[in-house]
Amino acid sequence: MGVPLRRAVEDSLPPGSLVAVTDQRGKFLGSAFYSSTSQIALRMISAAHVSAGEALHALVRERIHNAVSYRRRVVHNSDAYRVIFSEADMLPGLIVDRYAEILSLQILTQAIDRPEIRQVVLDTLQQELSPVSIVERSEPRIRELEQLSPAATLPLVGEKTETIFTMNGVRFHYIATGGQKTGAFLDQRENYAAAASVATGEALDVFCYQGGFALHLAEVCSRVTGVDSSRPALEAAERNAILNGHPDMEWIDANAFDLLRDYAAAGRLYDTIVLDPPAFARSKRTLETALAGYKELNLRALRMLRPEGMLTTCSCSYHVSEADFIAMLASAAADAHRTVRIVEKRGQSKDHPSLPSVPESSYLKCLICSVTY
Ligand code: SAH
Repeated sequence: MGVPLRRAVEDSLPPGSLVAVTDQRGKFLGSAFYSSTSQIALRMISAAHVSAGEALHALVRERIHNAVSYRRRVVHNSDAYRVIFSEADMLPGLIVDRYAEILSLQILTQAIDRPEIRQVVLDTLQQELSPVSIVERSEPRIRELEQLSPAATLPLVGEKTETIFTMNGVRFHYIATGGQKTGAFLDQRENYAAAASVATGEALDVFCYQGGFALHLAEVCSRVTGVDSSRPALEAAERNAILNGHPDMEWIDANAFDLLRDYAAAGRLYDTIVLDPPAFARSKRTLETALAGYKELNLRALRMLRPEGMLTTCSCSYHVSEADFIAMLASAAADAHRTVRIVEKRGQSKDHPSLPSVPESSYLKCLICSVTY
C-alpha cells in the first residue's frame, strides 16, 4: 500500500501525521498514516476522510473492537492468538498477541507511536480484553528504521511477565521477556492440530523451537523427537513437555542440516516428520539459495519416512511462493524416488488474515503430505 510522496509534501509533514491521499489528478483515495523515514511513506487506514484528534481516536477504538470480535468468532480452544495484525486489521504498525492474561504488543510506525495514539491503544485493549499486564516486544530493527526510540523493557500495564497459555488443549509456558517473535509461533496454531490429526508412530519435529508441533504430535504418536539449534528453545520445550505429562520426549541440540544428513545416511526411519525452518529467503535475491536449502531438507526427510509416512513441510519465506515451494517438493520427491501426495495445503491461522492488496501479509505455506515408495 505504499504511495510515493513528492519531496515538497514530505518536507512540510511531521512524522506520523494523518494525511488525505489523492491520485495525481487530485481524486481522493483515502486517509493514511505518514512515515518520514520508511520506504513505505503512506499506509492506508481508511477509504474515507478521517480527521486528526477525536475522530482518529474513535476509529482506532473501533478497529481494535472489530479485531477482538473477529478473533472471538474464529479462534477456538486457545487462549493464545494474534489479536491485531497490522494492515490486516487496518491498524498499520500495530501488532498485539494474546498469551492468556498477558498481551504482548509491537508498535512499529511513527503514527501508532504518537503518545496519544499509544494511550488510546492501551486503554481500548484494557477495556476489550482486561489483561493482567501488557508488555511491549517491538522489533528493535524496525523501530530503528522508523527512527523511534527503543521500546520500554518493563510492562506498560501491570507487572506479570510469566504465565501458561493453551493452544488446542496443549499447554505452554510463556515468558514475556524472552524467546523469538513475541514468544510463540501463533501463526502455526491451526497447523499444529492439522499435522497431529494425521500423525502416527515415531515422529521427528525438525526446527522444533519450544515444541509447538512436537507437543501436539506427542498426544498421538508413540515417540517424538524435537531438533533445534537453540539451547534455550529446547530447554523451554522440555519444560513444556513436562507440563503436558510427556517427560519422555527427546530433544536434540543440533544443526538440522547435519543431523538429517547423518540420520538419513544411518538409515533412520520415522512415520511422521515435520519441517518448519526459519525464513531462508529474506529477499528476492536469495530465492535460489533458499530453494536449494528447502530441497536438501525435504529430500532427506522424504528418504527417512517409512512407507505411508506423513510429511508436514513449511516455509515462512514470503519470497518463496506456494508454486515455488510445491515445485521444490516435486523435485525433491523425484530425487528421493518417492511419491508425494499433498493431502492439505495450508497457510497462516485465521487470526493472521492476509490482504489481497498487501501480498506480504500472506507468507506461510504448510503442506501436509502422504509419502509412498
Ligand atoms: N516449529 C516451531 C517454529 C520454528 S522457528 C514452532 O512451531 O514453534 C525456526 C527454528 O529453527 C528456531 O527455533 C531456530 O532456533 C531454529 N533453527 C534455525 N536454524 C537452525 C539450524 N540450522 N538447525 C536447527 N535449528 C535451527
